[in-house]
Amino acid sequence: MAAFGRLSRERQITYAKISHTLLQTNSRNYSFYGTSAVCLICESADETFAHMLVCEYGSSHSKEDLFKVYSEVLKGIKTPERVRTTILHGLEQWTRNQQEGRTTQSLPAGLDKGDHVALEEAYLGQTYENGWEPFLRGRVHSKWGEVMQKDKSEHEVKVLLCDLV
Ligand SMILES: [Zn+2]
Repeated sequence: MAAFGRLSRERQITYAKISHTLLQTNSRNYSFYGTSAVCLICESADETFAHMLVCEYGSSHSKEDLFKVYSEVLKGIKTPERVRTTILHGLEQWTRNQQEGRTTQSLPAGLDKGDHVALEEAYLGQTYENGWEPFLRGRVHSKWGEVMQKDKSEHEVKVLLCDLV
């Protein structure tokens, strides 16, 4: 990871926001400060954001709070509302499936009407090609770039999303 001082101003702001949120996981602390990355609740996995969502012993923060903060962070990088709700829908379904041992993943409401083809492709690509746990590790489907921000290149959008968690 690049040193904080070398990041663009926009990314510094994103980091500053995150550092004051629940997303300050032990895994992230490990990359910044070299402290232990392990989840203190189950002690069997690194405490990434994805792990906090599915830790079998629950997390110190409610899932509702975690998703609320993640939504705010997506807002912070100017993610359009429809894209934001689609990403959150995917992550919520993934989290629920982990807990219930299921693999079904429905489309977000309204996305099946054919008027948001690129967004639907991004959602389906993430769900069936990349997966949602990899999404939180930065393996973001290429279609997200197309639906995120008109003034940003696909690469910039991916970098922004990858740095969130
Ligand atoms: Zn845990």
